[in-house]
Amino acid sequence: MTDTKWVYLFTEVEQAEAHVGNDWGLVRDLLGGKGANLAEMTRIGVPVPPGFTVTTEACNAYLEAGEQFPSGMWEQELEAMKGVELQTGKKFGDPSNPLLVSCRSGAKFSMPGMMDTVLNIGLNDETAASLAKMTDNESFVYDAYRRLVQMFGSVVLNIPDEAFEDMLDEYKEQKGFKLDTDLTTADWKALTEKFKVIIREHKGFDFPEDPNEQLRMATEAVFSSWNGKRAVDYRNAAGISHDLCTAANIVTMVFGNMGSDSGTGVAFTRDPATGENKIYGDYLINAQGEDVVAGIRNTEKIENLEQDLPKAYAEFIDICDKLEDHYKEMQDVEFTVENRKLWMLQTRDGKRTANAAVKIAVDMANEGLITKENAVTRVSPEQVDTLLHPQFDKDAKSQAERDGNLYAKGVNASPGAAVGQVYFDADTAERMAEEGGKDVIMVRPFTKPDDVHGMLAAKGILTSEGGATSHAAVVARQFGVPCIVGAAEIRIDLEKRQMQAGGSVVAEGDWISVDGTSGEVFLGQISTIAPSIEEQTDLLTLLSWADKIAAQPGTRVSPEGWPTAGLQVWANADYPADAVRARSYGAIGIGLCRTEHMFFEQERLPIVQRMILSDSGEERKAALDELLPYQRSDFEGLFEAMDGHPVIIRLIDPPLHEFLPSEEELLEDVITMRVKGESEGLAEKEELLGKVQSMHESNPMMGLRGVRLSIYMPEIVEMQVRAIFEAAANKTLEGITVKPEVMIPLTGTVNELNWIQPRLERIAKQVNAEKNASFDYKFGTMIEIPRACVTASEIAEVAEFFSFGTNDLTQMTFGYSRDDAERNFLIQYVEEGILPENPFQTLDQDGVGRLMALSVNDGRAARPDLEVGICGEHGGDPASIEFCHLIGNNYVSCSPFRVPIARLAAGQAAIKHRGIQIPAN
Ligand code: ADP
Ligand code: MG
Ligand code: MG
Repeated sequence: MTDTKWVYLFTEVEQAEAHVGNDWGLVRDLLGGKGANLAEMTRIGVPVPPGFTVTTEACNAYLEAGEQFPSGMWEQELEAMKGVELQTGKKFGDPSNPLLVSCRSGAKFSMPGMMDTVLNIGLNDETAASLAKMTDNESFVYDAYRRLVQMFGSVVLNIPDEAFEDMLDEYKEQKGFKLDTDLTTADWKALTEKFKVIIREHKGFDFPEDPNEQLRMATEAVFSSWNGKRAVDYRNAAGISHDLCTAANIVTMVFGNMGSDSGTGVAFTRDPATGENKIYGDYLINAQGEDVVAGIRNTEKIENLEQDLPKAYAEFIDICDKLEDHYKEMQDVEFTVENRKLWMLQTRDGKRTANAAVKIAVDMANEGLITKENAVTRVSPEQVDTLLHPQFDKDAKSQAERDGNLYAKGVNASPGAAVGQVYFDADTAERMAEEGGKDVIMVRPFTKPDDVHGMLAAKGILTSEGGATSHAAVVARQFGVPCIVGAAEIRIDLEKRQMQAGGSVVAEGDWISVDGTSGEVFLGQISTIAPSIEEQTDLLTLLSWADKIAAQPGTRVSPEGWPTAGLQVWANADYPADAVRARSYGAIGIGLCRTEHMFFEQERLPIVQRMILSDSGEERKAALDELLPYQRSDFEGLFEAMDGHPVIIRLIDPPLHEFLPSEEELLEDVITMRVKGESEGLAEKEELLGKVQSMHESNPMMGLRGVRLSIYMPEIVEMQVRAIFEAAANKTLEGITVKPEVMIPLTGTVNELNWIQPRLERIAKQVNAEKNASFDYKFGTMIEIPRACVTASEIAEVAEFFSFGTNDLTQMTFGYSRDDAERNFLIQYVEEGILPENPFQTLDQDGVGRLMALSVNDGRAARPDLEVGICGEHGGDPASIEFCHLIGNNYVSCSPFRVPIARLAAGQAAIKHRGIQIPAN
């Protein structure tokens, strides 16, 4: 135990490396980020004031032992101090040439301002007096001394800082001073004495004059600050582990407050807001470190330092370059100039906006500082997400907050900013947007599938109920509409057409601003800035690199027929306009086109209803014939937009009653008409009601839908297949390369495919013969029923491709109905740790994922070149994308708005798992 090395001089970084096995991550664990980088800067020749680090292991041992230094630690600390004395030529506690130090906290991950630091340790009545003489700068020394007493009192001894601040204010007021700089030596001396009295009064003992005692207590305070409330809260919020502990860094003091040849500042090596390759920061002449951050004086822009202290500035710029070169990252540094001599006090990777992250990564790769692969891993998929949604102008938003316009808060379900007028139902929202040309925010307690037209017409969506995976949230994300759900404090009165929160009423037509990124609702209009992907050239560059990396053959090592490159990214797109957007966002295929959406359009729905309600085969056929041209023209648009790329079209999936008015609604109408004695149209309504009642299913999700519906009523899908192949043939004849893939939903047994697929293939052949066109096409199925997964080898005999519909597959694997689960118990399940996450957001790899892996393996055993993809919402979730890479998917397909995120995630998966063997077992 006693031979444990608890203390490392900054010059001993090699020993630290040897101790942890030459792993820089572990050096940071041991010395903390601040300590490790101070040592590293020392090693590469950057001027750092001499010092040493007491390790996080010492802190851990100290806290474990009930606040007792581990044996040997304190002796090593004193020994290290001798080393620093040797390096500086000064002596700790020696009045003839006193060494002063700071004692600074520093954990592995930076926790700005969360833990403690004490400056000017080593000052006492004696050393202060002699230092005053030596520096010929009394007021500086006594200012430093009172700072020590103050910091020691508040930080080490836990006396509320106000005790000292109030005393200082009182003193200034008595003397008629305004600024700290008005105070003279005599004033600082007097205040130092008063501060000492405060300590005595609060603690019953004196401020320790003995420098060793000061150091010992400061070290303890830094260690203990790891468990301070602020630090614990921060770690909880930032997801930092509680057992890393902090190191204590003892650093020779350098003084920026020695006059006009001295100063101090903080800077980023590049602009953290824009990413521009230009030093960005502030400094103050004649000031100590914390003055810059505290904002008590107006700082100067870092560029001006060139005039004030040209030599130090030039050296500083050199050092910034050197640090970036060394760390290959944008750095955030602290420095001090003491009598024209520059000292670096800290460096760390700088925090930055999403915008800056992308620009810096791309620039650094272009500068040759990092590889393109590094660049691709430097940006997170979430950062890409924020870049693609309109955002509020920051200043305008803070102004709105100051003006008291923050109205309510909810769940930030779909990012981006939206400003518009409030409308309380889908029809009005759509009408106001389309006919009235208004910007609309659709507000509802919650939304349902038949609200979608209003949601699509809206600039933003707000609900008072529901969570991050409610219908409103899912649809909003799918279509990239900013959305807040579950803003519980808002009470919506649909009768009065108004909502109320915190006493203020918003009526229909009033303006609000919705921040889907933060979940805040504001009254009135806040100005926004709208990013477009075409303008984001750096992002486009980065994504093109990600694509190239993923497309490299050999990325995955796999059997014949399986993909050897990484994942492709396709998009779910129902309309030609979606397909165009998907292409511009970089999708190279459509993984899911939901044909039923086409049925809902205004002029088509009556035809669809007529088709459903028809009594005779002829009637039905007539209605379908009317629908065919609509479908054909939609498909033509899709093929045109996707020239040369595959388009997977799913045949009708939902139960038919979804296209009819609801039973309750009809019943209400019929009763009202009867009561009022209105006879016109009553018979029709009654008949419709009867039909709807006869189609009632007690569990429609598991009822007549998907392939079952196609077998029960094949005319619909026969029409759809005809429309698909006519469109494909027409476009082929125009010179467009079409690759249609017809997808049969909800297969549970191969016999379903055996029944329906040959009929449909016959139609395909027939159309091609009629049109004299030839092109590649496939027939395949969605895999969304567990039975399909376990019988995948049989199904693959017939199906030429699989597409995992992970929404349904998750429902059926867990036996949850999504809506019920999310409404009732899922949140509790996640809170109680019964489920690690909402399985509808992030794929359940252990259950659903195993079924998927099994399907891929068995399916490809039967058909080695089986094309496999995913088209559920998980296709846009980075963790699920990585999983799809590992099980051997060919592609992931997601909403067009998530395509850029998926491209980055696919590139990152390829890098992380380069050369992985699939299937892995
Ligand atoms: P934080 O992690 O909160 O930034 P630091 O340990 O970096 O805390 O220190 C707080 C301030 O004191 C910073 O401005 C830093 O530059 C300054 N400082 C710390 N040690 C010294 C020193 N030895 N000489 C001069 N200034 C110092
Ligand atoms: Mg700092
Ligand atoms: Mg499904």
